[in-house]
Amino acid sequence: MKTSQRRVPFFNYPALFEKHEEEYLSILRGVMRRGAYILQKDLREFEESLARYLGVKHVFGVADGSNALTIALLASGVQRGDEVIVPSHTFIASPAAIHWIGAVPVLADCLPDKMIDPRSVEALVTAKTRAIMPVQLNGRTADMDALQAIADKHKLLLVEDAAQALGSRFKDRFAGTFGAAGTFSFYPAKLLGCFGDGGAVVTNDDRVAARIFMLRDHGRDPEGIVRQWGMNSRLDNVQAALLTHKLKSFEPEIQRRRAIASLYHERLHGLSQLLLPPSPTADPSHFDVYQNYEIEADRRDGLRAHLDRCGVSTIIQWSGQPVHQLEALGFRERPPYTEAMFKRCFLLPMNTTLSDDDVSYVCDGIHAYYGTHG
Ligand SMILES: *Cc1c(COP(=O)(O)O)cnc(C)c1O
Repeated sequence: MKTSQRRVPFFNYPALFEKHEEEYLSILRGVMRRGAYILQKDLREFEESLARYLGVKHVFGVADGSNALTIALLASGVQRGDEVIVPSHTFIASPAAIHWIGAVPVLADCLPDKMIDPRSVEALVTAKTRAIMPVQLNGRTADMDALQAIADKHKLLLVEDAAQALGSRFKDRFAGTFGAAGTFSFYPAKLLGCFGDGGAVVTNDDRVAARIFMLRDHGRDPEGIVRQWGMNSRLDNVQAALLTHKLKSFEPEIQRRRAIASLYHERLHGLSQLLLPPSPTADPSHFDVYQNYEIEADRRDGLRAHLDRCGVSTIIQWSGQPVHQLEALGFRERPPYTEAMFKRCFLLPMNTTLSDDDVSYVCDGIHAYYGTHG
């Protein structure tokens, strides 16, 4: 294959705004002219529309997906000294939230589909374990039946990190809606991205909801009386109004991601050097929304360098280090699948600004590297 000038960036941030610039500016103008900045109608509208979309009772917009985790853990009743089992293959924000409430993150392994391994979870349960935090990574939802069974058996809470999985389902139930509480991120590159930081905590439990309400706004109840310690973690009205608008056209975004995943699958599934994510039609229990397209590859570093020379940008999640490998944090766990996988895994471009030709070009590059024809 000859090298060409074509470029496939990993993510195209300016494109988020360009496509709908006038719509976004008029929404912004509306909110700002009304002087509605904090905890007003636009936020309530977004919370209601997200609740309807997810079929969940309560949604609270918060500052970001990391804050959402802290609030979800506290509101669910996780306490100082409790152990919380979380996968090592996750963003540092998941164990950090556990750490900052005084609880102890315990790192589990993952399966080839990159979801937390229920067997690894079961093996890590101790008398101190209080909760399991599944991370619904890459737009897929873990086997929540298996995790619920472990939670029931040991009387544990489930608190989901669904930052990467808005719209993903397991057996027709949305990621984020299984446990005591679930969280989402609206970081710009996430499935539903805003124009800055944003997040949400969701729950079906009225008592958990009452605590989330107070935790995100200085511990104040609906009458403004301080009832407990709280913090300032609110989703701005400007971001909320933009998110309500974007949520209306979220379904086609998901369909496009699934179509791109199908294209990758079609072109690449014959390569024995690769392990691909499950295809959109692989398993009727899972509806995946492909926040990321994370593959494992023989000679990964050579393949990435080759793609880079072709103008295709790829990344390794978490800058190449799962949580247990972050030396500064001193974890003792050595989850074997995760350990081996991080010599092989990386992300191909996956976002709705990609054309079919872009995807095909990426696949050509991979076939060229392995000397195969696809
Ligand atoms: C993005 C992300 C978060 C944190 O979300 P922010 O909004 O950036 O704070 C947490 N967990 C996972 C798995 C994420 O991908």
